[in-house]
Amino acid sequence: MTPDQMAPGRRTVLRIAAALGATTAAGVFAADRLGAFDTAAPGPGSIAAPAAPTAPGSPSPPAAPAPSAAAGPGPAAGALADGVAVPGAAGPQAAAAGRAPATGYRLQPMTAYTPPRFRRALPPVRTRPFLQVAQTGRTMVLTFDDGPDPRYTPPILDTLRRHRVRAMFFLCGEMADAHPDLVRRISDEGHVLGNHSWSHPLIPSLRPSRIRTELGSTSETIERLTGAAPLWYRAPFGAWNRHSFEIGAELGMEPLAWTVDTLDWTEPGADAIVTRVRAGAAPGVVVLSHDAGGDRSGTVAALDRYLPELLDDGYRLTVPHR
Ligand SMILES: [Zn+2]
Repeated sequence: MTPDQMAPGRRTVLRIAAALGATTAAGVFAADRLGAFDTAAPGPGSIAAPAAPTAPGSPSPPAAPAPSAAAGPGPAAGALADGVAVPGAAGPQAAAAGRAPATGYRLQPMTAYTPPRFRRALPPVRTRPFLQVAQTGRTMVLTFDDGPDPRYTPPILDTLRRHRVRAMFFLCGEMADAHPDLVRRISDEGHVLGNHSWSHPLIPSLRPSRIRTELGSTSETIERLTGAAPLWYRAPFGAWNRHSFEIGAELGMEPLAWTVDTLDWTEPGADAIVTRVRAGAAPGVVVLSHDAGGDRSGTVAALDRYLPELLDDGYRLTVPHR
């Protein structure tokens, strides 16, 4: 082949690459990929059958927040085991992740963000979020969404530190970007940072390219501030769709919903929040609260009450491992 013949060939490769990126962004390949990874890895429902969550939490629900039939935590979803092995390790994603590009041309989708220091195998593409965490003993997980907020996140961190308890914080990228010191404090104190999108949109209403921007920019911000990209994400309003599962997996994240909604976003007062947490307490339960998005003084006060009570009841408050 002469150099003259090479040139159009290279242009063809570039056109194919561009087409691959475009069709993947439009979700054309989604069905194949879902099928491939569902058979390669166990689904979330293989471990335990949890209770369905109460209502999707939201600081400011839109007029019609009802997720589509394919979205939202379903009753068939399951729990994630403590210390779960990464199930996609032997799958095609793992092979792709470990393969160095042989040339300057990369026949891969054009993504807005790929964790540069990502070394572990990518998780499988889920079809449902995890609703609870299956761990041995009386273990529960506390989660706080929408922050960080300088009014409410620090006192929540103070309470957790006083009781030596780790929790999960699902951050909105725009809040993280505005309060970098709080993001670093959450990380430095041993809590798990999750991705809750950049601007808290209703995910199923977005084009896939916008979902990728929402999740990718948030992971990028968290990694920039803490040195580690998030391994978990949670859809705003609990409204998931197929694209969010695919894009979340591409970014190395597992989807986590919740078991018990404190409904603190309705600002019901600390008493009601304490009652809901105590009534819902059980092994494996994931509790949803919010440290931003409205007046969260009730959330702060409630935590100070129910946390020592749960500990007295023999519960271990922890975070899931991956
Ligand atoms: Zn939220």
